[in-house]
Amino acid sequence: MLVMKFGGTSVEDATAMQNVIDIVRIQLERARHNASPAPMVIVSACAGITNKLIKLAELAVSNQRDEALGLLDEINAHHVKVAEALLKNGEKAKHFIEKLTHNLATLINAADIFGDVSPRVIDAFAAHGELFSSFILAEAMNEQGVKTEWKDARTLLITDDHFGKAQPLWEMSEAKLKAEVLPLLNQGIVVLSQGYIGATVSGKTTTLGRGGSDYSAAIFGAMLSAEAIQIWTDVDGVLTADPRLVPDARRLKVMTFNEAAELAYSGAKVLHPSTIRPAVMKNIPVYVLNSKRPDGEGTLITNAVDSFEGMVKSIAHKKGQTIINLTTTQMLGTYGFLRQVAQVFEKYETAIDMISTSEVSISLTIGDKTNLNKIVEELKLIAEVEIEKDIATISVVGDSIRRSPGIAARVFQAISDINVKMISQGASEINIGFAVDESDMERAVRLLHEAFFAEVKEGAIFA
Ligand code: ASP
Ligand code: MG
Repeated sequence: MLVMKFGGTSVEDATAMQNVIDIVRIQLERARHNASPAPMVIVSACAGITNKLIKLAELAVSNQRDEALGLLDEINAHHVKVAEALLKNGEKAKHFIEKLTHNLATLINAADIFGDVSPRVIDAFAAHGELFSSFILAEAMNEQGVKTEWKDARTLLITDDHFGKAQPLWEMSEAKLKAEVLPLLNQGIVVLSQGYIGATVSGKTTTLGRGGSDYSAAIFGAMLSAEAIQIWTDVDGVLTADPRLVPDARRLKVMTFNEAAELAYSGAKVLHPSTIRPAVMKNIPVYVLNSKRPDGEGTLITNAVDSFEGMVKSIAHKKGQTIINLTTTQMLGTYGFLRQVAQVFEKYETAIDMISTSEVSISLTIGDKTNLNKIVEELKLIAEVEIEKDIATISVVGDSIRRSPGIAARVFQAISDINVKMISQGASEINIGFAVDESDMERAVRLLHEAFFAEVKEGAIFA
């Protein structure tokens, strides 16, 4: 049995939703042919709608009720338009859209009166996006003969009350899925539900955090012991580099969970590792596929042995980084200095990305500059501090890096005329990372891509 998740751009309008229906139909026919259960389908809100819903909450609490109601009209109109374009008989869907719109208007009034925008309130607003999109899609699937049952994820995914970043209550949710979803799938009925949203034991709406529908898909897949999870999006899969920098970037046919994690941390737009953790734990293969080009093979993320081949898999980069260099003689032969430094970053809730140290100095990079000035002030109490702005970090990632000597040499050979500001071979040993001036970034990525991928032939790993 499959869990198929469709992201915001895959359900953004009627055309996109029609693609989804066609993709699900083919999968359903395949399942029927193999006498296996129907897939469970999870969708995001239409692209851009979650942002608008959050904006709605913010307007409502800041005395901009009229603007909020104007924005609500826009949200409503979008979904009515999709329903009208997609459905022959859109009455039921339109009725549901009106109901949700009415709920939102009530929420706006309440927020306007209480003037308080807590994560709990935001969740109540934000959860509507997935309800809109999924309901329209379910109606259309049934209209087109793809037998589907729409389920409100808030009756399936029970979470703690950490609003805005809720975690599933595993046993309870698993029991619900097994009781309410599996029997339908076993009868060949598609179950269509929402990503991103859930509810507490007492029924209060929660969300799993932005981009949380991948996480939902992984949770549902793990609970149902799916044979695979498909993440349908608008790219052909995971590539060897950002195609905006490297137009001839190649698609990876297969990669490991570790590589995906390392790439995500290093700035690539791949599935975030924490979101697919439930799939990793159960070793469920995850496919990244393009709903606009459904015939493509996509990228398989797995821990199957074959996925470990291929030395370097991909090159990720992050702009807008800052290097902080700390020097102190106090560090020589003493201990506790790193802890003092770490405490400053902890205090200002700023994540350190790369770090490298010597006996008397520490260099580190951060991406979040919000508290940079305060951090620097405090660090000055314990060390000499020097800042380098407009930095880019580049990471060369591959599981086999740890087993192949000479990769670092090839990396720095390829960019030998570029000034490297800092080097850090990730503790995971599957990532060689370094920092350069932002103005050197594009060229560095291109040179590296040329060095590692120009001669790689199409095969098991690279398309
Ligand atoms: N719609 C939610 C968001 O935009 C969840 C998701 O798309 O994954 O964050
Ligand atoms: Mg999304």
